[in-house]
Amino acid sequence: MELNLVMLGPPGAGKGTQARQLRRKWNIPHISTGAMLREAVAAGTPLGREVAVIMEGGGLVDDDVITRVVRDRLSQPDTRAGFLLDGFPRTVRQAESLDRMVADRAPLVIIDVVLTEAEVVRRLASRMVCAECGANAVGEGTTCHDCGGPLAPRADDREQVVLNRLKVYREQTEPLVQYYGTRRTYCRIDGACLPDDVTMQIIKAVESHT
Ligand code: AMP
Repeated sequence: MELNLVMLGPPGAGKGTQARQLRRKWNIPHISTGAMLREAVAAGTPLGREVAVIMEGGGLVDDDVITRVVRDRLSQPDTRAGFLLDGFPRTVRQAESLDRMVADRAPLVIIDVVLTEAEVVRRLASRMVCAECGANAVGEGTTCHDCGGPLAPRADDREQVVLNRLKVYREQTEPLVQYYGTRRTYCRIDGACLPDDVTMQIIKAVESHT
């Protein structure tokens, strides 16, 4: 059965961490627009050069640019059994484009991972991210427990940038809660629980909504 998941929620809510667990369970690709853009920046591609400064400041990349990236990715054959979108959509316009892209596919299941702003700021202040696989780690030494890669803070986790990312989330992304909120497949999840408990909540919610 095709499973098309969208992870919603503020930065630091655990979308990426959860997506990495869930892709193993359901064997569907984890599509993180943030990770794709960071790779483009690191590789110095034309896309990377276009978005680097915006990302450094915590702003949003242009809707048309990011929508094209996602449309290309969703046209790959490995998404036939479904996908796990992490970081897209982030605006109502992106959500409208996504609805058009998946019009002939199984309905989107929306996982909204809810977390307070105070908790976001607290978490991101101490977040370390693996340069190799993108896994998150908090206060766990200098190497990644998943792949052994080096851990470092994310450039856009500096406090000033986090505050801007939260503002952008509040103004541009939170309206998606209204956009999706009335759908039968919209699920609200408490992101303040332990990661394994969040995973359990998500699995239960998805199983009861599909
Ligand atoms: P993330 O890893 O999801 O926190 O994304 C990191 C950064 O990439 C964001 O702060 C944005 O600058 C950019 N980005 C990722 N996804 C999107 C999107 N759907 N729309 C616009 N910008 C995005």
